[in-house]
Amino acid sequence: MTSRISLLPDHVANQIAAGEVIQRPASVVKELLENAVDAKASKIQLIIKDAGKTLIQVVDNGSGMNRLDIRLAFERHATSKINLAKDLFTLNTKGFRGEALASIAAISNIETHTRTTSDEVSHCIRIEGSKIKNQSLSTKPQGTSVAVKSLFFNIPARRNFLKSDVIELRHIIDEFQRVALAHPEIKLLFFNNGSELFDLEPCNSRKRIISIFGSKWNNQLVPAEESTSLTDLKGFVVKPEFSKKTRGQQFFFVNNRFIKSPFLHHAVSSAFEGLLRPGYHPGYFLYLSIDPKKIDINIHPTKTEIKFEEEQSIYAILRSAVKHSLGVFQVMPTLDFDQNRDLDVPYRFKEKTPLTPPIEVDSSFNPFKNPSTLPKTNKREKEGLLPNIHLNPDREYIKNNNLINVPQSTRFFQLFSKYIVCPLQTSMLLIDQRRAHQRVLYERFLASITEKTSLSQQLLFPLEVELNPKQIEEYHQNKEILLALGFQMELKGKKTLEIVGSPENCPHSKIESVIETLLSGENSGQSIEHLSQADQIAKTLAKTLSIKSGEVLTPIEQQVLLDNFFGCKETSVSPFNKSIFISLEKFEIEKKLN
Ligand code: ADP
Ligand code: MG
Repeated sequence: MTSRISLLPDHVANQIAAGEVIQRPASVVKELLENAVDAKASKIQLIIKDAGKTLIQVVDNGSGMNRLDIRLAFERHATSKINLAKDLFTLNTKGFRGEALASIAAISNIETHTRTTSDEVSHCIRIEGSKIKNQSLSTKPQGTSVAVKSLFFNIPARRNFLKSDVIELRHIIDEFQRVALAHPEIKLLFFNNGSELFDLEPCNSRKRIISIFGSKWNNQLVPAEESTSLTDLKGFVVKPEFSKKTRGQQFFFVNNRFIKSPFLHHAVSSAFEGLLRPGYHPGYFLYLSIDPKKIDINIHPTKTEIKFEEEQSIYAILRSAVKHSLGVFQVMPTLDFDQNRDLDVPYRFKEKTPLTPPIEVDSSFNPFKNPSTLPKTNKREKEGLLPNIHLNPDREYIKNNNLINVPQSTRFFQLFSKYIVCPLQTSMLLIDQRRAHQRVLYERFLASITEKTSLSQQLLFPLEVELNPKQIEEYHQNKEILLALGFQMELKGKKTLEIVGSPENCPHSKIESVIETLLSGENSGQSIEHLSQADQIAKTLAKTLSIKSGEVLTPIEQQVLLDNFFGCKETSVSPFNKSIFISLEKFEIEKKLN
């Protein structure tokens, strides 16, 4: 009788394991960097070509391997990090599954050089798709260099599913940054296609954060610390006023390993409750140390998930430590999101008595009949003193030109600092100011991108924005988009972007946040010719630049908003598919009052 069940040959088993551990070039980067850290390297270099598709090389000055170990390292379940099952519960290393190198070797061509302190020469091994091609001596310095070429060469499906270089590189940078943040004591270098992306000197964790994300972070961080018998917590939270709409700045490290934990995230978020504007996310860099016996990181092949034995206590410690640091550093009093910007008018306006706006009724007006029969504009506007442009520049324009007391038509008015009430002949519209403005901005940005009709305004004084290496990389990838939107700019030196012109729809005060949003790495990475990319960018900008609920609008601002809104191609829904207004018919009102 023959058996139908047979054991998989090793190279097949390795390929299957590789499917779990190695999803993309960034996974190789993670594994190789972690091995270098485990080998106690004090200096690690990462060298990438073509977003890792051609080459991923990690060179470290760590312990190295001897002639025997270098062969074993590529066997499955070969690890120097655990011997006995019980070791699994006392882990202090990154690796332990002993499958990373075997997996990578199964799906690429690898060349490794390695040398221990006691060896006179280095040992070299070349493996192609799990097969050892050559083993020889070489003359490399102490430490290990692993060069992975032609990743997924024998799994075309995987290779074809890789994303564009922009996106794959983004993932690699993320992995690199995680290791760099977890180990500020290690010198780290990163070269991409021959140019240096990061050169990080050994330092403390605050300096490491700043050298990765930029010097302006220095005053954005608040230390958070707590020491209990269960765990030690160190790190920083980002002051709420510097929080972002993206989730890019959330880092948890447990025993110096980056981990993803919705549970811990919740603990931190709850400490931020009431301090963040809607749609903004807390930023944090938190380092927990805990007895390895009390955690289980073995639950996922990529080792980024974790289980805690005493999770409720960890939750409580984290939450109270973050709350405490937000309180101690008096983050709270500086926050006043409801502040009414109109109360902040320059001093000279406060002295003046406001004029009572004359009432002017145009009973034949129906904004939906024809966009050109928009509400009548007053004389100054007709004379072109108030260009029909974006609302915020208008706000600046109005203030700069002493126009704040110009008599206004009160055909419409603002309600709850949120809606504009617009009476029509037989009905009344209640328009959501934020959504209406999003619609206006969205259509304008979409048109300027797709029709290439953007207008740029020259800045009186060039604005300098400091970019971190990841943003510089995004800048190179997204330059075309920035130009299409109307930005005029130039890179000065290694990390300064000088902006001399900005899109006409973008108020000066928002330029920096728009640039940050566009370089946050959340674009789809497609060319701007792609409609979905243009659509996504127009949406992002509409969201970033729109007036918010709660903002008091002057009559002129209300009018400009309505003028622009009624000129939109679509007026019923916002770019995010939310209703922009409701209409209350006269007969409905009469019925209610009957
Ligand atoms: P794991 O890290 O889970 O043990 P790997 O497949 O990543 O498994 O590595 C297998 C073994 O090879 C490690 O346990 C270690 O002994 C050795 N090794 C891998 N990379 C290095 C390196 N850069 N320096 C020294 N030893 C290494
Ligand atoms: Mg490993």
